[in-house]
Amino acid sequence: MNFEGQIRKMITENGSPIRYYLNLKDDFLDVNQQLGKKIRISHLHNQCLNCGLDHPIYRMGYCKNCFFTVPEANENIIRPELSTAHLGIAKRDLEWEQKFELQPHIVYLAVASDIKVGVTRLTQIPTRWIDQGASYATILAKTDNRYEAGVIEVALKNHVSDKTNYVRMLKNEVLEVDLIQQKDLFKVYIPEEESKFYLPDTSIYSFEYPVLQYPEKVKTLNLAKQPEFEGTLVGIKGQYWIFEDGIVWNVRGHEGFYVKIEI
Ligand SMILES: [Zn+2]
Repeated sequence: MNFEGQIRKMITENGSPIRYYLNLKDDFLDVNQQLGKKIRISHLHNQCLNCGLDHPIYRMGYCKNCFFTVPEANENIIRPELSTAHLGIAKRDLEWEQKFELQPHIVYLAVASDIKVGVTRLTQIPTRWIDQGASYATILAKTDNRYEAGVIEVALKNHVSDKTNYVRMLKNEVLEVDLIQQKDLFKVYIPEEESKFYLPDTSIYSFEYPVLQYPEKVKTLNLAKQPEFEGTLVGIKGQYWIFEDGIVWNVRGHEGFYVKIEI
């Protein structure tokens, strides 16, 4: 079978295990069904997620020019606490930013390897956690907009990481911790003005990934440096494909690459 198209992050469906799909130009590739099979990936050229041109991909699937101009890559995406849409002040495109930022957000605790704090839109649950390869997660606070969630996250960052250790996540080195107890401990760090957003809910969301074999050592495949790769797929976790011999391919990290996939 041959597939080709522009890489975008995999579409996920929560289940036991999670189901993964790659939405290519003419095809919808069911990635779970490819487990145990030999796959060849070839980088043909690039196709920026915004302008569609064959320019070097800079970040987030965009060429350098688009990365510094499109609203989808404005700095509030990475740093929610800088959001100013609630004040009617734009970074790049007020209408886009108001639609994106002025909606319910959550601050969560998730464990992909160690415990981390993060912010996302309410509608991104559970997608956000699956994309990070989290094993389990809980909601700490639910806010009215992105700014408020960002303020809470910044306060918590002094006490807990906001990064995912992808190597440990892929090796399945997952800390066992009582997230509800942690949530209770972190509650005191929420700034007083935002304390009304604390969510006294004890739900734990847990995730099971389709992995036949976890790697002992992890080696990252970078198609910009190595345009051809062939290997046997043994797992999918987060936004990664895990191959035999510990080679891992970050699908999301290759957004905007135009590839051919032969199975
Ligand atoms: Zn572009």
